[in-house]
Amino acid sequence: MAFINQDFRFKKAPDKHPRLRWLLFAGGCAVIGLVIASTSTNNSTDIAIADELNPKQNNTDITPVFTETELSPHTAVRLSFELTLPELQAQQKIIDDINNDAPKQWREFKVKSGDSLSKLFDRAGIKAQQLDEMMKSGKAVKQLTRIYPDDTLRILIDNDKNLLGLRYEIDHKTYLMVERKDGALVADTFSHDIETRSAHASGVIDSSLFLAAQDAGISQNLIMELAGIFGWDIDFVLDIRKGDKFTVLYEEIFRNGEKIKDGNILTATFSNQGKTYQAVRYTNPETKRSEYFTPDGKSMRKAFLRSPVNFARISSGFTTRRYHPILHKFRSHKGVDYAAKRGTPVVASGDGKVIFKGTKGGYGRAVIIQHGTKYNTLYGHLNGYHRKLRVGTRVKQGQVIAYLGSSGLATGPHLHYEFRVNGVHRNPLTVKLPVSTPVPKQYQADFEQKTTPILAQLERLTRTQVALNN
Ligand SMILES: [Zn+2]
Repeated sequence: MAFINQDFRFKKAPDKHPRLRWLLFAGGCAVIGLVIASTSTNNSTDIAIADELNPKQNNTDITPVFTETELSPHTAVRLSFELTLPELQAQQKIIDDINNDAPKQWREFKVKSGDSLSKLFDRAGIKAQQLDEMMKSGKAVKQLTRIYPDDTLRILIDNDKNLLGLRYEIDHKTYLMVERKDGALVADTFSHDIETRSAHASGVIDSSLFLAAQDAGISQNLIMELAGIFGWDIDFVLDIRKGDKFTVLYEEIFRNGEKIKDGNILTATFSNQGKTYQAVRYTNPETKRSEYFTPDGKSMRKAFLRSPVNFARISSGFTTRRYHPILHKFRSHKGVDYAAKRGTPVVASGDGKVIFKGTKGGYGRAVIIQHGTKYNTLYGHLNGYHRKLRVGTRVKQGQVIAYLGSSGLATGPHLHYEFRVNGVHRNPLTVKLPVSTPVPKQYQADFEQKTTPILAQLERLTRTQVALNN
């Protein structure tokens, strides 16, 4: 989270190492595919077969820089866009100058875990009865009963330790202000003037999407969102080529006339190795859910089949602890076993890209497929692979990738199937699978009416970009 916040702070106070940070970021992205394939949340006492994939491999050197949660483009991030202390000080100086008052200093107090307002006031050196006085200063002050660790309170006190003011940013839209007016404390909440404007950016890739995005002035947040939208079709680590290009139309959120963050991507186009993909955001009027669709209303997301093999029976389910028939030990089983005749075709459960093909410890012959940025599936104990399957091959849902067998630690022919979300094993039989539903028929007209002007704007921008590059 701190990583994202830094991006916004960067706009106010120039960062000394922006390039370094970008390199870290690009590096983090480059390894993310591998991280997803190898991350497991098993605890150490309960060793899953999955752990044999990457024994003792530890990704702690990566996660602090770029965690899985930050990968998800729709993660709700608690952003704080409060005035910086120097800004508040400067404001106070103007007020003091106007009133011909002695200069006063705002001080900043961070809420620690286990803190209470009285502890905090104690730290600030404010007399206890002034806390009582403040709590009676108006309804708005109730906001202070819901403060959390890491929240910041700004406090203004005079030389006699009298509370003169308190400011607390409730969210990026509103703040609480307690002020001493004519001797009495008065509390009120104020709203910032929030405005959404549209913006656009285009880029041509020279070496990496991330550098191109930086050149185009796009924030890291936005570029991750862009990668999330097209991630079902394009692998942003391996598929990107020099000359690939993109145009994105997005929202910018302004507070009191100053840009504070990017909003949603409205529409975007991405040309990868000569193939152009287009996405447009649409909010379902009934569910109020926003998703990205192709201009003809198909979902950008791709769904999954529940089972990657037909004509099989489940011989072992997903469990965190079971007796292993060969190793004679208790182990967790983080997948589902499908028993069937040797040689039964195994299909890709969803559209994606082969990121691993080969022998992996207890798994025997295995295939791992990456689906979008969040999901991957593993197929183990295979007898053999489809003859055309290579690492990097794009596969369609239902396409035969391999044949069922008993390679590795297996008692008899069966497929061991794993489903991972952000690197975490999930039960493939019960996991909530992402849906890939097109725009519902009854909203087709609404979809067209709402997206046509946005798409037309995107097309104009793309044409301008082509003209500029020629
Ligand atoms: Zn298994």
